Amino acid sequence: MAELEDFTVGWISAVWTEYVAARQFFDEMFDDPEKPSTDHNEYTLGRIGKHNVVVTLMTKGTIGSNSAAIVARDMLHLFPNIRVCLMVGIGGGVPSKKHDIRLGDVVVSMPVNGLGGVFQSDFGKNVQGKPFQFTGLMDRVPDVLISAVYKLRTRYAENGHTLADTINTILSKNKRLQKAYASPRASTDILYHASYQHSPSQDGDGPLDDCSVSCSQDPTVIIQRRAREDYENNPEIHYGTIASGNQVIKDAVLRDALAREKDILCFEMEAAGLMNQVPCLVIRGICDYADSHKSKSWQGYAAMVASAYAKELLSVIRPTALDESRKLQDMILLTVKDNLQEVSGVSHDTHTMVKALNFDRRLERIKRWLDPPDPSINLNKAQQTRSGTSGSWFLNGEAFQRWKTTSRSFLWLQGIPGCGKTVLSSSAVTELLRADSSCNTTLYFFFDFTEKDMQTLGKLVRSLIYQLYCKSEGAQKYLYELFINACNEGASQLNSAQLHSCLSAMLREAKEAWIVIDGLDECTTRKGRAVTENILACIRDLSQREDANTHFLVTSRPEHEIGSDLGEWTDSETQWINIQNGLVQTYDINAYIRKRVIEEVAFSRWKDRVDVQQMIITALTLQANGMFRWVVCQLDTLRDCLDFPEFELRETLDTLPKTLYETYGRILSNIKPQHINVAIRILQFLTFDQYASLSPEEIVDMIAANAEAIPGFLPENTRLPNSDQVIEYCSSLVTIVEQTDRWGKPFRRVQLAHFSVKEYFLSSSIHPLFAAHFAEIRYGRRAFWRRATCQLVLERSVMQGSPLDWR
Ligand SMILES: [Zn+2]
Repeated sequence: MAELEDFTVGWISAVWTEYVAARQFFDEMFDDPEKPSTDHNEYTLGRIGKHNVVVTLMTKGTIGSNSAAIVARDMLHLFPNIRVCLMVGIGGGVPSKKHDIRLGDVVVSMPVNGLGGVFQSDFGKNVQGKPFQFTGLMDRVPDVLISAVYKLRTRYAENGHTLADTINTILSKNKRLQKAYASPRASTDILYHASYQHSPSQDGDGPLDDCSVSCSQDPTVIIQRRAREDYENNPEIHYGTIASGNQVIKDAVLRDALAREKDILCFEMEAAGLMNQVPCLVIRGICDYADSHKSKSWQGYAAMVASAYAKELLSVIRPTALDESRKLQDMILLTVKDNLQEVSGVSHDTHTMVKALNFDRRLERIKRWLDPPDPSINLNKAQQTRSGTSGSWFLNGEAFQRWKTTSRSFLWLQGIPGCGKTVLSSSAVTELLRADSSCNTTLYFFFDFTEKDMQTLGKLVRSLIYQLYCKSEGAQKYLYELFINACNEGASQLNSAQLHSCLSAMLREAKEAWIVIDGLDECTTRKGRAVTENILACIRDLSQREDANTHFLVTSRPEHEIGSDLGEWTDSETQWINIQNGLVQTYDINAYIRKRVIEEVAFSRWKDRVDVQQMIITALTLQANGMFRWVVCQLDTLRDCLDFPEFELRETLDTLPKTLYETYGRILSNIKPQHINVAIRILQFLTFDQYASLSPEEIVDMIAANAEAIPGFLPENTRLPNSDQVIEYCSSLVTIVEQTDRWGKPFRRVQLAHFSVKEYFLSSSIHPLFAAHFAEIRYGRRAFWRRATCQLVLERSVMQGSPLDWR
């Protein structure tokens, strides 16, 4: 008899059928262990190949990931030297075009595409907007198990396997097990179309009849699959992601929706709770298709196949390899207690999931029809430029705190171009969206000069409506009603009056909402007094409605037109805040300068000269005059003059340009002569609305294309090898913004660095040497547009490798 310390492999069965199956694969069995009375696990000890293995059955509690955690805790307590853990049992398969999964097949949890082998799916958490949260990525399958899986996979690919024969041999020796554990006939493996539901039993609540009794055998409802050939593995082993949650999946549509999101091969119910505790490999025999047609006839055989595979897997692991890996006990980081709280806190019923699925389908249709802009892109962009605690003077200040809690409150943050309004409003949004914030219904919007599409009132209203639809369950019915009835299920569009009344009805239903709108002055809808024609009238109407409690925080420049409108109904003493003024803004700016001068690599040549660092910090702080943007440009300029001797630095600091426009003029005059033509070309395009945002590659093509030359493009070797270089032609004026598309894939756009840059190029203050190049855009937009379009055609042809002979 082996000692408790001699066992190195843990094998967990969640249900009794799996336990019985597992026991059939021991080469030798030992006596039962002595265990504490608090340990409710059932253990079978024995030898499989060269390993001492503990097969554990969870007996207390119900199926689900919570109990797996307790089982693991007790098992590791009793057998302190366990090095690897296998969860072996049955699960619901997800057959698809990509994965021909059939009953009796095996799915092994393996990391794919950088994702761990098992997902914990917390259904129902944060239902609205994003119904299925795949949380708790458990990327912790031990290396020794992964390499064993690869070894076996290679062997099976080359020579096949004998899992079915092994099972037959075992069953031929024990006829009692045959009925429940032998392979059912292949003809009973029927995969129904996802939309075809199992018929309920005759007597209502009774057990379900077998599909052969109650379900159609009509080929139109059955997915036809060819028989497997002799040279194919049968059962087949699949490798990939297993989703684990504490809910049984019994709905094929739900199954496919969940599976599509993460390429899931199998659903099961215990692994998540276990993998939060200990690293383990999950092996699942497929006994059903996670649809309404559940029957139990494949469970025994599926458990046998999974166990047979687990045994083969152990046979390719050397006992010494296990001795060399760490004890699982040492790897446990979380306490079971914490984990249990976490898991039980998110437990929801299937009803919630199905409701969530319906919401998701509806949301997609609504979104396609409403076509709202996505302000989160701007939010992320602004937050990237935020430094540390900047804005805390405002967020912790009395005005913002009062605004959050006072009914129908209103705040106008005003400031000159470049004083940091957008970063400040994005910080306010982030603060309001924080998990512990009491401002549940926070909506926001950024008017963005680089997105022509986002500059109108209509777009703002659409975005707010959509955000409300996602956040407030009560408000959903108004929009849905319009979608179905007034707009004939999305066949027609809402007019602006309907949009406005829909938004106000939804705000009334939401009871309380906090709305942050950045850049009012960049909104183009500002004529007349009607709520649909003037953004100021719209905000005034919504914020004064007695039947709702809507808080508005808006930012803009201190424009006369905005001020005189807001002056009619707000108090300039308490509800207007000038960002530029005040010591606190200076404090923020000073912190920003300090951080860059001290931490940025380019300034490291002064790192031993505290006096010089201080000179830069003081000079910029004193002259900034509340303009973040100005500071950014000056630091960029200083950074780029790497060969500054000290006296020259001093002189530069003494003669800094006073205004932003002066700063831009100086940046232009510092562009190297050999770069001027290219810089002008880039700036022209980005200033023009149509091309306000281009990819670095498009810019490279644009530089290479030349509408005035023949053959119309520059030879390949004159193209920029590295597209990131494009911003070096006119740094500080142009920036590269990192974004992600809706599939999470990152991409990059080149844009003017600030709205004030665009205004500068269109103003009469532009540097005289450049004025002529931008006059065309200022006065003759149409002419420029024609030329630019010709240029674009040319670029496209260059990109496609068939340059035009341009004449
Ligand atoms: Zn059925």
